[in-house]
Amino acid sequence: MHFATLADARAERAPAAPAISDEAGALTNAELLTRTEQVAAALEDRGIAHGDVVAVFLPNRVELILVLLAAWRLGAVVTPINPVLGPTETAYQVTDAAAKLVVAEAERDDLSVPTLTLDAIRATPERHVAVADGLAGDDLALLIYTSGTTGSPKGVMLTHGNLDAMTASFIEWFEMDERDHGLLILPLFHANGIVLGTLSPLRAGGRVTISRRFVRDRFFADVERYRPTFFSAVPAIYAMLNSAADEVHPDLSSVRFAVCGAAPMPAEAIRRFEEHFDVKIVEGYGLSETTTASTINPLHGVRKPGTVGLPLPGQRVAVVDASGAEVAQGETGEVVIAGPVVMAGYLGRPDETARTILDGWLHTGDIGRFDEDGYLQIVDRIKDMIIRGGENVYPKEIENAFYSHPDVHEVAVVGAPHAVFGEVPVAFVSLRDGAAVTADELSAHVAAILAAYKRPTRITLVDEIPKNPVGKIDKPALRKRVRDSAD
Ligand code: ATP
Repeated sequence: MHFATLADARAERAPAAPAISDEAGALTNAELLTRTEQVAAALEDRGIAHGDVVAVFLPNRVELILVLLAAWRLGAVVTPINPVLGPTETAYQVTDAAAKLVVAEAERDDLSVPTLTLDAIRATPERHVAVADGLAGDDLALLIYTSGTTGSPKGVMLTHGNLDAMTASFIEWFEMDERDHGLLILPLFHANGIVLGTLSPLRAGGRVTISRRFVRDRFFADVERYRPTFFSAVPAIYAMLNSAADEVHPDLSSVRFAVCGAAPMPAEAIRRFEEHFDVKIVEGYGLSETTTASTINPLHGVRKPGTVGLPLPGQRVAVVDASGAEVAQGETGEVVIAGPVVMAGYLGRPDETARTILDGWLHTGDIGRFDEDGYLQIVDRIKDMIIRGGENVYPKEIENAFYSHPDVHEVAVVGAPHAVFGEVPVAFVSLRDGAAVTADELSAHVAAILAAYKRPTRITLVDEIPKNPVGKIDKPALRKRVRDSAD
């Protein structure tokens, strides 16, 4: 399907049924369509047409979804900008994406393009705006900027065909229908929030409640109040929820499943969450470059903590060696993915696209292996791997050793330069509230689990592990800290 007609389809099927809401109010399907057309009218009045790029600089709120649907109605492309970005970073994305307009809460006179404010949209008289002619599955829908944990941000080009394939997969995998209600807590400038959090339940006929941002205690209250059937979150959020486990006993019984992805999730944290909150976590794996997810643990079958599940139907996932040949089952190599969710490329970067997609296979930069049951394990990121005196050391393995200690809240292991070995692992650890374990005790704990060459040469206790805007542990920041420190 082309998402230009999502609001029309819903309004026709069930005009009075709820569609999306946020703390400012709720829209029925009929209202979703009229408000989408109002935004489309405002965009059209400013000259936006088929193929143009619209930047959207908004926090999580209903209007962000309206901008997506309205732009798509005109055949335009949307690039959502993380609303915490500063002027330079914002200008970079607006320019790189060649956006013609930016939709924002307030006027932005620092950018090279005009602003369409929410007030200006509200002041636009409602009128019918027809869906553009000649729309096709290979029309670009989104330019998602990768969070830049590697190099400068690149625009991942996702088409309506990509969104079609991905939402159809999610709906099938999670058995979504009109009874589903997603509580959206992830940011809407990333694929997960848009595709899994919003478009999938909307396509299935269900509804979405948008949280402006994740706040731990408000999250529990929101689940009790709105009674969503699912939500999607990242490991950092589960770590925060787990940290409340001994204090609160919320009723999360409406939730059929909770999705986890975007970064490694310690198996221990999954167990703790499921045991305490009685909600099943389904861990998956994917990239912006694959429209969100390529493997997920099954909803009903065996879920294996420590794995990212099975390939989604329609996608091919393989593990290859440096020559591109598939390795034997159980062996470790680079994860590559082919199928209808693979991006059209990086905007304006044909060389990077050609380096990343080889013969139709997207090279993920992740090291993985398939276990004996065909479940994928992500061993680590190639770029995070530490090479200590020629020996490959996977930070994730070391991190898991720390996570087996009950006092550890979060941990990040990175490579530190070393005169003899080239690189050695060092660890940053934050502790649970009230925990009093020392770095020496932690060192003894992991030494009992890990071979000597994998043991961190230094353990630094910190109040908080730095995160990037998507909530992933910011390893580049930690590596910089290590390089800049005295040794
Ligand atoms: P880059 O800047 O290289 O694009 P990113 O983190 O900004 O990195 P995303 O598309 O947001 O890019 O995230 C994709 C990456 O997140 C994957 O390549 C993988 O390393 C990691 N990832 C996603 N899900 C999981 C998971 N369940 N377990 C481990 N790692 C995961």
